Amino acid sequence: MVDLTRAESLIALTPDYPEPGVLFRDVSPLLADGDALREVVEALIAPFDGRFDIVAGIEARGFLLAGYAAALAGVGMLQIRKAGKLPRPAAAVSYALEYGTATIEAPGVLRPGERVLLLDDVLATGGTLTAAQRLVEDLGAVVAGSAVVLELTDLGGRTVAGDVHTVFTA
Ligand code: AMP
Repeated sequence: MVDLTRAESLIALTPDYPEPGVLFRDVSPLLADGDALREVVEALIAPFDGRFDIVAGIEARGFLLAGYAAALAGVGMLQIRKAGKLPRPAAAVSYALEYGTATIEAPGVLRPGERVLLLDDVLATGGTLTAAQRLVEDLGAVVAGSAVVLELTDLGGRTVAGDVHTVFTA
């Protein structure tokens, strides 16, 4: 069993970003450390070994995790993007934020029934991950699983997004 304590210590805490009262969990130092990045991405995908056909990354830090995971697993990756970034989105899902709404979109590259593993850096309220799960289903594919590097347990995202595999909790 790999000791992930060092990798966990590389998640930096930034108070009051992007707005007062939010403690931002910055994975930049973890992403910049080759050993920690490999250990964490291996831990992210380990429970799903052989049970997914493609990895989806949620913009933007999820892309970095998904690209690495896809290469490790020998599969492709799906971009889940913020609205307006894709030339021909095949599906869009809007969801509530604390103030206002957000929309995510994906290109039409999935085969029917394709098993998608969803990755992101942080699970907070769960709104983003839940929307991504719906997006995959709207595209006719199947959610093979959802995994994040860090779950903020107090925000209750798990009750919204369902069974999420987490490497670290805070
Ligand atoms: P939510 O939809 O509330 O679960 O928020 C999850 C999304 O917002 C993820 O894509 C995270 O990257 C980002 N996020 C939310 N809260 C934080 C936080 N405290 N630190 C870092 N990223 C966060």
